[in-house]
Amino acid sequence: MTSIWLDEIAADVFPRLDGDAAADVAIVGAGIAGIATAYHLARAGAKPIVLEARTVAEAASGRNAGFLLAGVAENFAAAAKRYGEERALRVWRFTRHNQQLVREVVAREQIDCDLAWNGSAQIAGDDSEWAEARASAERLRREGVRVRLVPEERAAIYEEDGELHPVKYVRGLARAAARSGARIFDGTRVTAVAPDGLRTERGRVRAGAVVACVNAYSQHLVPLRVRPVRGQMLATAPVGRRVFVRPAYAHRGYRYWRQRADGRLLIGGWRDTARDEEVGEEERTTRPVQDQLESFLRQRAPEAAISHRWAGIMGFSHDALPYAGRLADGIFVNAGFTGHGMAFATATGELVADLVRGVSRNETDLYAPERP
Ligand SMILES: Cc1cc2nc3c(=O)[nH]c(=O)nc-3n(C[C@H](O)[C@H](O)[C@H](O)COP(=O)(O)OP(=O)(O)OC[C@H]3O[C@@H](n4cnc5c(N)ncnc54)[C@H](O)[C@@H]3O)c2cc1C
Repeated sequence: MTSIWLDEIAADVFPRLDGDAAADVAIVGAGIAGIATAYHLARAGAKPIVLEARTVAEAASGRNAGFLLAGVAENFAAAAKRYGEERALRVWRFTRHNQQLVREVVAREQIDCDLAWNGSAQIAGDDSEWAEARASAERLRREGVRVRLVPEERAAIYEEDGELHPVKYVRGLARAAARSGARIFDGTRVTAVAPDGLRTERGRVRAGAVVACVNAYSQHLVPLRVRPVRGQMLATAPVGRRVFVRPAYAHRGYRYWRQRADGRLLIGGWRDTARDEEVGEEERTTRPVQDQLESFLRQRAPEAAISHRWAGIMGFSHDALPYAGRLADGIFVNAGFTGHGMAFATATGELVADLVRGVSRNETDLYAPERP
């Protein structure tokens, strides 16, 4: 079954590319990463072309929970342990910039995408995660972050986090990119990339640079350390009471839920209960994971009728940070979001667009594809 988001919004019709073409920059993939890269390039005056095998936002970007969080999937204390505190703070600030950028772009381009800033709850699943959640809150408060603790729920409430309708956002951004001069093609699979352009199933595209934004599918096109991992969700018909106050992110980000303004409940994750099965590119739901999602739903809202069940494929990097930068002469990437692309990709799109145009930025080292 398709996601609630894709089910609600008819795809814009972009043409198929049937022959050869030429462009300043050729972008492969029209999820949030490819579209954001195209948007920033077009706004800077370049003439990018975007080639998408399916339709805009039909893969992970149209199948996620729509959380717009700050930070990586792990809590800040865990991230500081993994990356070192200074680097973890730089990543945190980058994702805050991503939130700000989404706010600006949505206002500037008048994208109607149900963007709301109700904050998020980070809920600990055990004592050690709760200790980390408290330490994270304490450290981030010193950075000026608005966070408060609710000990009886073992929750840290981050007041500044956002949520949106991912398909409305990515398709709205695609229209804005097209208005600025990007050319977008659906139904056009790329079969090979090279520094001077790429090949599609039906022709050749010459370009000054190529940006591969195919996330989970990267290994088919470029040598990138991305592995495909499946995520599953369900959604319900509108429920006439408030069940969840704000988006919640629990058990180290493995489990998440939210309630939309129209009353529908969305529940996703529980991949931690089936790690070995939830890998690969097969975009299908499975009974064991759906049963877990449903059992949580029944605890919180027994009356809710399930309307949608779906799966999406995420691209995991070797260290849970994205790869955004130059891979080889003329070839760039923007991928590997490790289940957190809405938190990063509007800003990594800006970063990669700058790098393609020869403008270097402070964050370049954080997401360099060749980092150890
Ligand atoms: C269930 C689930 C819940 C999630 N929840 C959240 C969340 O709440 N917040 C958050 O930040 N992140 C979340 N994510 C992660 C987020 O959806 C992804 O990180 C993000 O969408 C990745 O965007 P992308 O553009 O890199 O990849 P995609 O959206 O997968 O886009 C890649 C595109 O490349 C195209 N493509 C692939 N190969 C080719 C080719 N050869 N030629 C042409 N086109 C090609 C594909 O068709 C696809 O459209 C979730 C993911 C899932 C699955």
